[in-house]
Amino acid sequence: MKVGSPQTEIDRLCQEFEAWGLSPEAIIGKHKVVIGLVGETASLNEEQIEENSEWIEQVLRVERPYKRASREFRHGEAGEVWVSTPDGDVPFGESHPIVVVAGPCSVENEAMIIETAQRVKAAGAKFLRGGAYKPRTSPYAFQGHGESALDLLAAAREASGLGIITEVMDTADVEKVGEVADVLQVGARNMHNFALLKKVGAQPKPVLLKRGMSATIDEWLMAAEYVLAAGNPNVILCERGIRTFDRSHARNTLDLAVLPVLRSLTHLPIMIDPSHGTGRWEFVPAMAKAAIAGGTDSLMIEVHPNPAKALSDGPQSLNPERFDGLMQELAVIGNAVNRWPKSAMAIA
Ligand code: PEP
Ligand code: MN
Repeated sequence: MKVGSPQTEIDRLCQEFEAWGLSPEAIIGKHKVVIGLVGETASLNEEQIEENSEWIEQVLRVERPYKRASREFRHGEAGEVWVSTPDGDVPFGESHPIVVVAGPCSVENEAMIIETAQRVKAAGAKFLRGGAYKPRTSPYAFQGHGESALDLLAAAREASGLGIITEVMDTADVEKVGEVADVLQVGARNMHNFALLKKVGAQPKPVLLKRGMSATIDEWLMAAEYVLAAGNPNVILCERGIRTFDRSHARNTLDLAVLPVLRSLTHLPIMIDPSHGTGRWEFVPAMAKAAIAGGTDSLMIEVHPNPAKALSDGPQSLNPERFDGLMQELAVIGNAVNRWPKSAMAIA
């Protein structure tokens, strides 16, 4: 719609499109209002739609299979996802400062999760991550403490003011996890779990969707489309490394090329996880810096008070001292690209 289109006209048009059997969705952006038309549109031509109002600026058909996730769906405008946390609302997106998410792979006990929350907050993180339910390759490996760990995350949220990001693996747990989490994480192994995608799409908390370890970018965006199509517009995409032939040095190959590729394909905010992406704490700083230089909107970093004793992913976890040092290094790159949060700058 043209800039300054009256609300009455937007409403009138939406009613008209509904009468045609379509489901119109008005997307109110910073500079534009876009009406997304979902339904049987194959038989309609652009002129037929255009002649309904002098306030229509342009009619654009989204050719890609992922409609709502596509960049065209917002007529090229950047998207954003706002997440409420005890310390206030935090935006993710390309026109906002970089958001750092940090914490252990698993929630192990109360002391460690509270200590980690306080340490990563002091260093400038806005969210605490930590798994209560862990997707492990082996059924004999630590599976997470489950429900009791959710209570510990709630305590850490209260004690630190940080938002909580934690994984949900089972459709049956979505509601329970949603009571504590500010963002629900769908892990790499569940990126193709369509029942779970539909379920997190039908609840109100934002969703962090990790890339499947062998998923193409199109498959990943189609997975995001499931969440969006189920009614939840708040999806953040997280690159966490993909399987490739050479696993002799790093656990995965962190695909940083997703930064420009996703930017051209989608309006959804992007997070990079160099911890799972490399599997080794020594490699995390270089990849985190590269991700900021490459334009990421957010970073996820595993931090554990004593990585040698961690119940999962110790080898890729930074201790709090190393995380402090990393945040100072990241501030230099973050400031250079003009995307480092003001509040975290004092630490640098
Ligand atoms: C995690 O975030 O701890 C995790 C299990 O990640 P992924 O799903 O990317 O393996
Ligand atoms: Mn992990």
